Amino acid sequence: MAKAIAIAMRHCIGCSMCALTCSIYWADEFNLEKGYVRVKRYDREGRFEVTFSSACRQCLRCAENCPSGALRVVEVPDSETKKGDKAGDKKAEAKSKLA
Ligand code: SF4
Ligand code: SF4
Repeated sequence: MAKAIAIAMRHCIGCSMCALTCSIYWADEFNLEKGYVRVKRYDREGRFEVTFSSACRQCLRCAENCPSGALRVVEVPDSETKKGDKAGDKKAEAKSKLA
């Protein structure tokens, strides 16, 4: 089973813990500009959006530290990933919106 990040943005509270977790781990500093995940706020619509950079290392730490369940680590059957892809690509494809 591969592990992947499931996304349910209706639960997002905009705390940016995901972005800070990523930046402290990969850039060694708390800096929202340096993580591989960004949180965008849409005030008029009252919602948030999380986007992942193509440089994301698939370490899953952002999801492990999301307090609301908007990002969760899930197991994905290998049969649901494309044959011939690299492991990282499989996990990236497995990211899915559940909202
Ligand atoms: S899965 Fe990607 S975005 Fe999340 S902490 Fe790891 S490198 Fe950063
Ligand atoms: S996805 Fe989770 S950690 Fe990231 S801003 Fe939303 S609630 Fe916070």
